[in-house]
Amino acid sequence: MTGRTGIGTGNTTGPTSGDRCSFCGRQHPQIAQLIEAPGRAAFICNECTERAHELVKQNKKGGSEFSLDELPTPREIKAYLDDFVIGQDEAKKALAVAVVSHYQRLAHPDVNLQKSNILLIGPTGTGKTLLAQSLAEMLEVPFAIADATTLTEAGYVGDDVENVIVRLLQAAEYDVASAERGIIYIDEIDKIARKSEGTSITRDVSGEGVQQALLKIIEGTIAQVPPQGGRKHPQQELVQVNTKNILFIVGGAFESMADIARSRTNVRAVGFGAEHKGEETQELRFLPEDLVKFGLIPEFVGRLPLVVQLQDLDEEALVRILTEPQGAIVQQYQALFGFQDVDLSFTEAALREVAHRAKERKTGARGLRAVLEKAMTDLLFELPTDGLEELRFDAVHIDDPMTLLESKGLKKSA
Ligand code: ADP
Repeated sequence: MTGRTGIGTGNTTGPTSGDRCSFCGRQHPQIAQLIEAPGRAAFICNECTERAHELVKQNKKGGSEFSLDELPTPREIKAYLDDFVIGQDEAKKALAVAVVSHYQRLAHPDVNLQKSNILLIGPTGTGKTLLAQSLAEMLEVPFAIADATTLTEAGYVGDDVENVIVRLLQAAEYDVASAERGIIYIDEIDKIARKSEGTSITRDVSGEGVQQALLKIIEGTIAQVPPQGGRKHPQQELVQVNTKNILFIVGGAFESMADIARSRTNVRAVGFGAEHKGEETQELRFLPEDLVKFGLIPEFVGRLPLVVQLQDLDEEALVRILTEPQGAIVQQYQALFGFQDVDLSFTEAALREVAHRAKERKTGARGLRAVLEKAMTDLLFELPTDGLEELRFDAVHIDDPMTLLESKGLKKSA
């Protein structure tokens, strides 16, 4: 159906067939909707409005001055993160404040504020990447992710550290000014720790060298990057990107950190990030010296003034992750079944069993989809099925999804 809408024309009759979009010149049926200007002077189609919106957005981001008018408050940032990330309240607050400070610093270049890059420490699958990504989405700044284990110093086989900047530039659609205000998340930073504390006789290419190279771009340098990435060639035109105002968030599991911190505090501990001291349980706080002991070079630690610890996710948090965040796994499956006119629901027991199994995998929320995937795939394979309108998925169906169809009097297809 062709929708026709008039803007500001009151009781307009809307465009008639034969009217064309004044921007792209197309008419029905090539376009779905045409919007009429007052006085029938012009029309714009739905696709051109979207393109125009993109242009306006890009223009807003591309301005050379960062506008403080649009800067959200830490509270607003936290509220936004709450829609996507379950738990991790302390991390959300710390990130929200750090991000606002970071962009305040950009807006007030005359005031000498230190850049506060952020180190996220927490077990795998607890939301480190998700937090960084959600922040970038909220702020509408370009965002790039890199895996520290794939990075090497320039000249070695692997991914040059500067390629991280290339990825950000690509995310900014080659708008250098916009890339220079972006956010880069570097994962698995704990994997580039040097192997032992103190100076090594042989140069540690995989660890310390990469830390040195990263240090340079984190503290601020003019990176000369080949726009398409890859190795630099002598005749190639290079793009200059100033990394001074790029916010770096680095993250890792730092598994043995708890032991290091405990040996310092000399307190018996239980669980990740928590220690047991008589009756009271208190947080085990990591200090810069623990990070150095772990194998990060002191200069690198010095550039990460904010250390944020994420908590392990318990089964209750995992159940919430299944259902609550925008685009949660359960919502996604419900949409897929909905397309086949089947109303899918999950019993409380099913959700708890999925969370329980995911927890046993020790991969945080990452395990949730994996637990459900096989059963959901088997069921989706049978759709559409005549007369099937509703499925209530229970714990037993995780291993035996076909019994759910059989209980509806339906047989598995050949
Ligand atoms: P990591 O901490 O290893 O970076 P990710 O952020 O990549 O973990 O999370 C892995 C997956 O688990 C993603 O699909 C993410 O959506 C989900 N997830 C992890 N932690 C949370 C959380 N606290 N709230 C909601 N989803 C989460």
